[in-house]
Amino acid sequence: MNLSHLPDTGFAVADNCLQIGGMPLTRLAERAGATPFYAYDRQLVSERVAKLRAALPAEIHLHYAIKANPMPALVQHLAGLVDGFDVASVGEMKTVLDSAMPAEKVSLAGPGKTAAQLRQAAAAGIVVNLESEREMELIAQAGAELGVRPKVTVRVNPDFELKSSGMKMSGGPKQFGVDAERVPAMLARMKELPVEFYGFHIFCGSQNLRAEAIIEAQRNTFALARRLAEDAPGPVRLLNLGGGFGIPYFPGEQVLDLAAVGAHLHGLMPQARQDFPEAEFVIELGRYIVGEAGVYVSRVIERKESRGQIFLITDGGLHHHLAASGNFGQVIRKNYPALVGNRVSPEGDATLATVVGPLCTPLDTLADKMPLGHAQEGDLIVVMQSGAYGLTASPAAFLSHPAARELLV
Ligand SMILES: *Cc1c(COP(=O)(O)O)cnc(C)c1O
Repeated sequence: MNLSHLPDTGFAVADNCLQIGGMPLTRLAERAGATPFYAYDRQLVSERVAKLRAALPAEIHLHYAIKANPMPALVQHLAGLVDGFDVASVGEMKTVLDSAMPAEKVSLAGPGKTAAQLRQAAAAGIVVNLESEREMELIAQAGAELGVRPKVTVRVNPDFELKSSGMKMSGGPKQFGVDAERVPAMLARMKELPVEFYGFHIFCGSQNLRAEAIIEAQRNTFALARRLAEDAPGPVRLLNLGGGFGIPYFPGEQVLDLAAVGAHLHGLMPQARQDFPEAEFVIELGRYIVGEAGVYVSRVIERKESRGQIFLITDGGLHHHLAASGNFGQVIRKNYPALVGNRVSPEGDATLATVVGPLCTPLDTLADKMPLGHAQEGDLIVVMQSGAYGLTASPAAFLSHPAARELLV
């Protein structure tokens, strides 16, 4: 597809209609039965995992962080492709344990885990990334009561940050993880507790498009893990290096140079093998695996002109796709790539239109003044790059409109 306002996506166009999983969007809308809906292309997800495998050293295992998109069918599909899952709640834990992924390949992160949740995780036999001394004491107690030795890593809040990150999650004061300088004392206490030390989890941030920034963070992560390992109760068996690989959303954004990240990791591997002979190295990714494989589709209910501006009022909106409305962590609102799915190229010149939803708030804007003015009532508006942080990252109950459907194609 070659449209100036769109990133180079994996989706084809035939007869001026977007194709998803080999099916014209118009037919897929019939299969869905109603708009709005999300559609995820399983082939594109598989291809993305293959691309990562080709670029990264074989010693680097790939985990999928399901908070990016926890659709059960998608998680089932990925269970056969990745080496593990990272979950951020016991609700997500249930979703992944329903798949074929073995429990010991699942890890749980997130601040403020309760005693009951830690007990559930210990009973499940998953790896728990401890974010505080309190969590360590509670899971040790739960394990003793259950007669199991909980598998734990320490999630470290590093003393460095991931530069150019869309969402910083490390460096400085943070609610995530244990400050690096406190980890030695925590590890000393861990030696007295009936838990199984697995290693470290060091996650620095999200949505990063700069290979140099990711490379620097990975180099710092290995160095920090080496230092902390000196005080560990046992060998490091699991070293989670984080992730943060981003995808392009907005005009001018460059795709991440995955080859550069991979080449650098290849270079680090001989030393890493020597420093951590028993360790499994993990990179955990959400957005990068699924973000570009998904679209959000809504139908134009009314084409309305107001003082010279065209509004396409659709049946979808921020209640399904908060991120595209610009209200999920954007400082200045920018347009996600969007197109008229059943009428991709206009017959004449493209005129500008603003795509809004049916919610009674000006926040409900999906696309502001984009070349979509040729859309007619009944046409399908597609928001691209919507496979991650879409439906479950949106306030579905806001204004009590119908829910969106989800299809894996
Ligand atoms: C959110 C999160 C991820 C996934 O981040 P992406 O940017 O979607 O790749 C991975 N690990 C942890 C600990 C997270 O909180």
